[in-house]
Amino acid sequence: MKEGIHPNFQRSKVSCACGENFELGSTRKEIKVEICSKCHPFYTGQTRAIEAGGRVDKFKKKYGL
Ligand SMILES: [Zn+2]
Repeated sequence: MKEGIHPNFQRSKVSCACGENFELGSTRKEIKVEICSKCHPFYTGQTRAIEAGGRVDKFKKKYGL
């Protein structure tokens, strides 16, 4: 193990708009995301989770759906 390469690297708490919380290695303490691997339609194959959050219109525009 070499020290000093990632001076601020730590376990970060990530909070998703869908309510999912998970940990991730990052230089930031807390991260808020709108889409995670649990609710992202490309992962889950469904859009229910983000529709519930009222963000589906923005999402559809972005991806031209
Ligand atoms: Zn999520």
